[in-house]
Amino acid sequence: MSLKLADIFKDLGYRQILVERLSSCGEVLKFIQQQDGSLKLYQAYFCKNKLCPMCNWRRSMKYSYQTSRIVDEAIKQEPNARFLFLTLTVRNVDGEDLNATLSQMTQAFNRLFKYKKVQKNMLGFLRSVEVTYNEKEKTYHPHIHVLLMVKSSYFSGKDNYISQKEWGEMWSKSLKVDYYPIVDIRVVKQSYQGIEKAIVETAKYPVKPMNLDVTDKQVVDDLYHGLYRKRQLGFGGLFKVIKKQLELDDIENGDLIHTSDKNELSEGTKIVAIWNATKQNYFII
Ligand SMILES: [Zn+2]
Repeated sequence: MSLKLADIFKDLGYRQILVERLSSCGEVLKFIQQQDGSLKLYQAYFCKNKLCPMCNWRRSMKYSYQTSRIVDEAIKQEPNARFLFLTLTVRNVDGEDLNATLSQMTQAFNRLFKYKKVQKNMLGFLRSVEVTYNEKEKTYHPHIHVLLMVKSSYFSGKDNYISQKEWGEMWSKSLKVDYYPIVDIRVVKQSYQGIEKAIVETAKYPVKPMNLDVTDKQVVDDLYHGLYRKRQLGFGGLFKVIKKQLELDDIENGDLIHTSDKNELSEGTKIVAIWNATKQNYFII
């Protein structure tokens, strides 16, 4: 898929260096075979292109690993906390407006989270920006998923509790738009599975693997420009503090070789796998 994407970028006339990076992404993989026979990746080149399916797969693994660790620790520190799942949307936009809309949404998000009523019971949050494509209308649907950790007092009385309507009004004001954007807020079931599910929902890596056979080139071009220099993941409050304490690496731009703990490299046989374009598979040398 990375190779297919590289071809699309090439056809679109993108710089050769970008095309080369994409096509050599994950071409050579060096593993250490552990005692139990499993392979542990220790060296590889990943292109870090925002749309690269290979890199986004690595990022999503890293993201779910990090968020689970952060949330586990946050629950240890605040055992009475509750979780909410918030989705913030805007009206669909054309490709050329995607980049500006994403900037506008980030600013609006910061404004929303400065509201006293939001701040009041908030302990931490993680947010991810996702963009989906409407094939029929040829428009984009950028939206923000937020996993919120709140004090249990959030549910006590009108002064604390924020209804869906109130979230919608505050989001509309924060966006500075004259319509009511769709907002969804739900309480996460207070069970391990419930919280895990919400994490997975938030932690789905922002750009879904594209079906490159049907995706027209324009979509690739629009998404590449739209997401250019955009941060899609963010941690706030207690989550941000814990992320720092645990010394977790940056997900989007950091190391994509080690998606979980870093210092666990053990001795073992080294195995090198190289992609063979004609055979469409990896071969071990
Ligand atoms: Zn890549």
